[in-house]
Amino acid sequence: MKQIWKQTWRQRLAAALIQLLMVLAMAGVGIRMPVQAAEKNAVTQSGEMKVHFLDVGQGLSILAQSEGKTMIYDGGDRKTSRFVVSYLKEHGVSKIDYLISSHYDADHMAGLIGCLNAFDVKNVISSNYVHTSKLYQSFVKAVKSDGLKMQHPAVGKTYKFGRGSFEILAPKTIEAKGSNNNSVAIKLMNGENSFVFTGDAEHESEAAMCNSSIDLSCDVLVPGHHGSATATSWDFLQKTVPEYAVISCGTNNKYGHPDKDTMDKLQSMDIQVYRTDKQGTIVVTSDGANLNWSAEPCNDYTPGDDSDQGTRSTSEVQQEASQTAIGEHVWVSATGNKYHKTNHCGNMNPNTAKEEPRAEAEAQGLEPCKKCY
Ligand SMILES: [Zn+2]
Ligand SMILES: [Zn+2]
Repeated sequence: MKQIWKQTWRQRLAAALIQLLMVLAMAGVGIRMPVQAAEKNAVTQSGEMKVHFLDVGQGLSILAQSEGKTMIYDGGDRKTSRFVVSYLKEHGVSKIDYLISSHYDADHMAGLIGCLNAFDVKNVISSNYVHTSKLYQSFVKAVKSDGLKMQHPAVGKTYKFGRGSFEILAPKTIEAKGSNNNSVAIKLMNGENSFVFTGDAEHESEAAMCNSSIDLSCDVLVPGHHGSATATSWDFLQKTVPEYAVISCGTNNKYGHPDKDTMDKLQSMDIQVYRTDKQGTIVVTSDGANLNWSAEPCNDYTPGDDSDQGTRSTSEVQQEASQTAIGEHVWVSATGNKYHKTNHCGNMNPNTAKEEPRAEAEAQGLEPCKKCY
């Protein structure tokens, strides 16, 4: 009796397992189909936001898509303009809801002219200054011929974008002779996920962002100005506290981007690093809670220029200076042109001798005493 029951039990279990496997297989097919279709048309699923960091060499171009809405933040340089347009087409883009030009330097703006010509653009957001370049004139012309006006929104203005939104972080002020610090910076949000793009904004603009009441914290930061040491200040990193940094720069670029200072900061804060110069185009999908990346972070913290030693922080320099001062004090007499190891070497009056750092004595033109050195 027991034996029979066991067999029946085994048979039932086997049947149940087969049924379960069939259900799983069907469900698997069911799940996989729409994902494949979605990827083919590059349409994000409900609640998703896809952000593409395009490999435009030394430049910046970011495509964001959410629930049928499209944003392009910068378009890279002339050389990659065609690549940007074809990349967008491949990813199902026909209209651009927000075309954002951070600033009018060619490595950010040139490709946007191609986008204005190739796509149905709804809104152009840009910085409120004028560039002297011919390229800027072409940009102005392309905007006008699309019947559009450049919008220069104030800091704090928020736009709905697909499932999420974006907020203007900068520029607070316009530098008369500047370009990089006039960059339009934004915080792009989807549920709990957020991204901060600052174009080529440098320390001055970062300081203004830090002084605003806007919450700068984000999951993903694109370090300003291609990882240059002129951007990504400690204060800005401590306000943004990103988990990931995506650096957009060209392989062996002539500027040596990214700089050692920036990479050292990212490493010391354990920020995971993606780099277009090492990894090409990088795509991340946000479901509102989690980020799903197209690749693992490279976490390559080496600077663009091997010989880059970085600049040391003021506190480090001060610390080192005080160590030198403690270690290398010398004695100098009231008169004379020598400094001494001790105040009683015999070649000086110990009563009028005073102690000072060796560097200071040398700066005064004093030479080491031959007797004690
Ligand atoms: Zn620039
Ligand atoms: Zn740039």
